[in-house]
Amino acid sequence: LTPRLAAIPPTIFTTMSALAVRTGSLNLGQGFPDADGPTGMLEVAARAVLGGANQYAPGRGVPALREAVARHQQRHYGLDLDPETQVLATAGATEGLTAAILALVGPGDEVVLVEPYYDSYAAAVTMAGGVRRTVGLVPTDDGLALDTEALRAAVTDRTVALVLNTPHNPTGTVLGEADLAAVAAVAQEHDLVVVTDEVYEHLTFDGRRHVPLCTLPGMADRTITVSSAGKSFSVTGWKVGWVTGSPELVDTVMAAKQWLTFTNAAPLQPAVAHALDHEMGFVSDLAATLAAHRDLLTEGLAAAGLRPRPSRSTYFLLGDISHLGWSDATEFCLALPERAGVVAVPAQPFYDSAAGDQLVRWAFCKDRSTLEAALERLTRAD
Ligand code: PMP
Ligand code: GLN
Repeated sequence: LTPRLAAIPPTIFTTMSALAVRTGSLNLGQGFPDADGPTGMLEVAARAVLGGANQYAPGRGVPALREAVARHQQRHYGLDLDPETQVLATAGATEGLTAAILALVGPGDEVVLVEPYYDSYAAAVTMAGGVRRTVGLVPTDDGLALDTEALRAAVTDRTVALVLNTPHNPTGTVLGEADLAAVAAVAQEHDLVVVTDEVYEHLTFDGRRHVPLCTLPGMADRTITVSSAGKSFSVTGWKVGWVTGSPELVDTVMAAKQWLTFTNAAPLQPAVAHALDHEMGFVSDLAATLAAHRDLLTEGLAAAGLRPRPSRSTYFLLGDISHLGWSDATEFCLALPERAGVVAVPAQPFYDSAAGDQLVRWAFCKDRSTLEAALERLTRAD
């Protein structure tokens, strides 16, 4: 193993899901739903498999998917994208994010991440030989906001890019217009590209609405927008994602993507195209269910003394365990299967600072019965 890769710890999701299987615990760790996606979409995939759509798709993705992504961006955000040059299909959002980072970041280049950050961004920056700088979120009357002072201070003459995730895993924050405007201003002042991770774009609650950064003035030509079908349509195992942006930026991502996977699962792409056009009702029902499950988990964790923090989106919320006497959240999460038969994820891998040491991420994208059973176990735990 090269020193570069040896410096990256194994992903926490593998560790904790293996622990859940090994101990037979209820898994409130890794973010995947118990329930399947819309039947119509699954049927399109099955028909595509049986109908022979099983050889290499075009490198940029099957035209039907690229066209459906362009229509989706038009319908939801008023964007006008050319599906030929401004949409690229990827192996989930993960490949789009990693390819973008590999294409933009050279040895010694700096990338600004918002802490807590999704773990794959840091791994991709390290694989590229780059250096990450992190900027925190700060509490406000209404949740969390970007520390915009820290953002300005984090940018140096080596900075080439910023990665922004909203709606945000693991805090459930939906960044507001002021934060997006601050990011846009910094990006334009310092000539940065912003890679946005919008995989939870439709999974917002309490009237919050996601605004893509690329819709702000001056940002269309410096934003690489990444999303995927996994979360919106409850098919995390499909790994169908997409990148949108200016033709130049999409070509930049393609330069790396072509050597990573070349092309992605052919029969799943028409199914996702179908879903983007015809299954948005499923997505709004899913968001409503997730909001109800967020409430259930929040109330249950509070009753169990596990101090949940407010979440306005995604699959997740953070809980504070600093009053419970564990040395850190990792120790707490490693002991939890034995104590309660439940798995959760320590927030530490999402942080460089010590701010995550006493925080646990809990997933509410599970069936109500799973959440109820897990809460009962947590309430009874010693
Ligand atoms: N970004 C965030 C914030 C995530 O939570 C996840 C997990 N699904 C991903 C990216 C990866 O998405 P995909 O499974 O489409 O690669
Ligand atoms: N995005 C999901 C999570 O945050 C799954 C992570 C993964 O499988 N890498 O739990």
